[in-house]
Amino acid sequence: KLHNQIEEAKGNIRVFCRCRPLSKVEASNGHATVVDFSAAKDGDIGILTGSSTKKTFKFDRVYTPKDDQVDVFVDASPMVTSVLDGYNVCIFAYGQTGTGKTFTMEGTEQNRGVNYRTLEQLFKIVEERKEISTYSIFVSVLEVYNEQIRDLLATAPTTKRLEIRQASEGFHHVPGLVEAKVENTKEVWDVLQVGNNARAVGSNNVNEHSSRSHCMLCIMVRANNLITGECTKSKLWLVDLAGSERLARTEVQGERLKEAQNINRSLSALGDVISALATKSSHIPYRNSKLTHLLQDSLGGDSKTLMFLQISPSEQDLGETLSSLNFASRVR
Ligand code: ADP
Ligand code: MG
Repeated sequence: KLHNQIEEAKGNIRVFCRCRPLSKVEASNGHATVVDFSAAKDGDIGILTGSSTKKTFKFDRVYTPKDDQVDVFVDASPMVTSVLDGYNVCIFAYGQTGTGKTFTMEGTEQNRGVNYRTLEQLFKIVEERKEISTYSIFVSVLEVYNEQIRDLLATAPTTKRLEIRQASEGFHHVPGLVEAKVENTKEVWDVLQVGNNARAVGSNNVNEHSSRSHCMLCIMVRANNLITGECTKSKLWLVDLAGSERLARTEVQGERLKEAQNINRSLSALGDVISALATKSSHIPYRNSKLTHLLQDSLGGDSKTLMFLQISPSEQDLGETLSSLNFASRVR
């Protein structure tokens, strides 16, 4: 009981900070680490901003480079599974390109991330509860690039613009977006691969393209309680955000400048929404970007939000690391 009260008092927004290891190249170039993990167990992370100056930031969890995908998922899993109890949930990874957003969310085939583990866990619980409830699970995979929604599961290319609509019961949805019904983890893996392959189409550098767009996985759950007869609908968003790094104005022009402006705009909009929620503001500016508009049902109200703040340990990235940490402190 007391534990519950503490949880409630903390609100519905959690921020977990994850620092990737120093890469081989960084290590061989002698880059120093500016992150101090000595109080990581208490959720504190120290950043060495100079030879004798340190700034400390507080999080709900801190993951050091030694923590693996399982360590991370253990903490995230209660939140993801609450979608089966009717909660809307949003989990996203924020940070500079190269800090491990995709590693955390997608992972690799040997080292699967939050997306796959989430669905695996959902199916496990669905099986455990089959005497009590029946569930149907649908998945959509989309990308937001330059404020346009692209369906990564669409089988035929379409020129029709995808827009966000609000259904009569209040739910936001995107008419025309493919919702793939998934029955087991094998089907999930296949759907995720289709989504990934579609991302590559039409871009000459897949990694670059994906760091400039938001990759969004939406898991919709319809639950039918066999005892009470109650039907519920809930939604879980898993989002790999575009890189948060700021580009020097002089370096970017044309298409690249437009991309950068759209990324800045949508990430600021996300920060604005979450900080408005955190301060219980009466106006929550969801409509300022496609990203926040899409996530609306899963941000605020009694929904649960988890942000993975991804950072680099390298001294070379200190400026971006501080700017990410400042973003996070706005939302807590
Ligand atoms: P982002 O999506 O933020 O641009 P990536 O997920 O592509 O970053 O990560 C950049 C590189 O760092 C990749 O090679 C990735 O495998 C590696 N990496 C990131 N986080 C970790 C981690 N926690 N442990 C091991 N390798 C990591
Ligand atoms: Mg990435």
